[in-house]
Amino acid sequence: MDTIDRRTILATGALALTGAVASSSAQAQAGPKALFPVGTTTIPIVGETDVFPVRRIYCIGRNYAAHSREMGSDPNREPPFFFQKPTDAIQNVSIGAVADHPYPSLTKNYHYEVELVAALKSGGSNIPADKALDHVYGYAVGLDMTRRDLQRAMGDEKKPWEIGKSFDRSAVLGPIHPAAKTGHFTKGGISLAVNGNVKQNSNLQNMIWSVAEQISKLSEAFELKAGDIIYSGTPENVGPVVKGDVLLCKIEGLPDMSIKIV
Ligand code: MN
Repeated sequence: MDTIDRRTILATGALALTGAVASSSAQAQAGPKALFPVGTTTIPIVGETDVFPVRRIYCIGRNYAAHSREMGSDPNREPPFFFQKPTDAIQNVSIGAVADHPYPSLTKNYHYEVELVAALKSGGSNIPADKALDHVYGYAVGLDMTRRDLQRAMGDEKKPWEIGKSFDRSAVLGPIHPAAKTGHFTKGGISLAVNGNVKQNSNLQNMIWSVAEQISKLSEAFELKAGDIIYSGTPENVGPVVKGDVLLCKIEGLPDMSIKIV
């Protein structure tokens, strides 16, 4: 009986606690409760115990002239174009780690694209370029992983690229570095090596549209908000990986970020 009583007390306590949590969250939301929990995607911040909650992932296409040419476009500073990845496509990679990154389904031509990522602490619509960097919380080294064969096949058929760009773990990135500590990134080396061989090697100043201009242009199309992150485009010489390859990504002023394709 003692055991049963203790269990009853524990169960009652647990229920009371659950009730307290539920009622305080119900008070906070003042509406119907969610049927089941859905996780929030977050990114670690260097030097902080708080984490960065992700609202949306925007990516800019063909933002380096040489990459634009290799993709079959004419880099003539036409307005930048954007696509999104789902928020939970993020794979966080710790500093100093070589994170396992599973080769995804359906592709036989899986490509890397090293990119600077800007993370916003605020937003708005029609943000002027000269005010845009005020909205940037920090920066990270990112990989816009791409099922190139699927992206191209859909493009050829004038269908959405979604399946080539917006799949699970396609948004790889290191932790965010507050701009208050690093400053803003308008120039500096950006490179990617596969198994020690440098494949992509450029400079952030070769971006056709700067991060400030990207934010300004994006905010004409979408109301930007705190928690939005922007993959700012990749330099030339994108290419394929196979299982076993180790990718090392570098941006001058940020720690290296590395994954192994498994
Ligand atoms: Mn990209």
